[in-house]
Amino acid sequence: MMDHETYSEQIRMCASCPKMCRHVCPTFNVWRSDSPTPHGRSLLLHFDNINTRELDDRGVEVLYQCLQCSHCLTWCIPEIDIASIVELARARLVSENKHPEGLNRIRDAIKANHNPFEEPHDQRNDWIQTGDSGKKTIIYFTGCTAAYREKSIAQDTVELLGSLDYSVTITPDEWCCGSPLLRTGFVEGALKQATHNVEVLNSLDGDEIVATCPGCYRTLTQDYKSHGLELNKPVRHISQILAETVPAVAGIKAKKRITFHDPCHLGRHTGEYEAPRNVIRKAAGVTPVEMVRNRDNATCCGNGSGLRTLFPEQAKRIGQSRIDDAKAIDAEILVTSCPFCKNMLNQQSDDNLEVLDLPEFVLMLRKGLDTKND
Ligand code: SF4
Ligand code: SF4
Repeated sequence: MMDHETYSEQIRMCASCPKMCRHVCPTFNVWRSDSPTPHGRSLLLHFDNINTRELDDRGVEVLYQCLQCSHCLTWCIPEIDIASIVELARARLVSENKHPEGLNRIRDAIKANHNPFEEPHDQRNDWIQTGDSGKKTIIYFTGCTAAYREKSIAQDTVELLGSLDYSVTITPDEWCCGSPLLRTGFVEGALKQATHNVEVLNSLDGDEIVATCPGCYRTLTQDYKSHGLELNKPVRHISQILAETVPAVAGIKAKKRITFHDPCHLGRHTGEYEAPRNVIRKAAGVTPVEMVRNRDNATCCGNGSGLRTLFPEQAKRIGQSRIDDAKAIDAEILVTSCPFCKNMLNQQSDDNLEVLDLPEFVLMLRKGLDTKND
């Protein structure tokens, strides 16, 4: 975690920069204002830090308009980590009870039912269908979005892993990984979820843990560790497992034009760009066509870091711009590897562009289908 000296130095440096990074900031592009930009956020925090101007309601709003996508970091020569700076500032705002009221609903939902969707905890696993069972043992950390909002991703993941010789364990005691709380400043509540999950996951038999959600993957592999919570099994993202285990098709080529959207938590935050592309190549027999903005230059889907809860219209417009990127290269299938990205992108898309999560896409091809809706 960043110490106060580094924090002060970074926001001071950023506040006096020529700020060219703002052109990749999705929130600058949607609000068209210099406040919801990397530099705008640093300037507000710098003034607050040197006691020149206290953060007012507008300042708090600007800090909560950040997606924490880290796109600005890829353009920043002194490597100012705005996403981490914003996360620290939000934790302080929460501790001073100055955070936006609109977030209390998520906080309370996770506390009461261990998911941000206000769904009953005892319905978390009602998507489960029995599938094949193989020799390799794996625990599937489903994540709230696949469990409650994108159940076909969870179902297809279990079916696919079963067909690849895995025996999959899903626990009824899984709670939210804590990511939505950590990113919005509710550190204490996040650590309650995390501590519970570590106890549960460490008590289960299994060779490894798989996550389909890159937010869960990042939180389990990075945030738990940075808070002193140790899992006793390795954790991998589903794309990394499929890249190893999906057999390459021989002589078959998918008929449709396929592109891939890099989720921020999988790409910029955990450095995995190649595994999902390798899976597409192996399963479809073709290389995905790249959108102009790809890999570490991929723009966020708009769903992250509480933005959709607080500013739904702007979040959807950011999602729409990603759909426009895919349509600009005449893609017919947009694959991603994140239930949260899929949820946003699918809702902004139309019949001309099918949006699928990676396990859905692979299973569809293994069944010989050209579209999941067949
Ligand atoms: S994030 Fe980096 S490039 Fe952007 S304004 Fe700050 S210092 Fe400049
Ligand atoms: S993390 Fe993303 S939304 Fe936040 S300032 Fe950087 S580019 Fe903009």
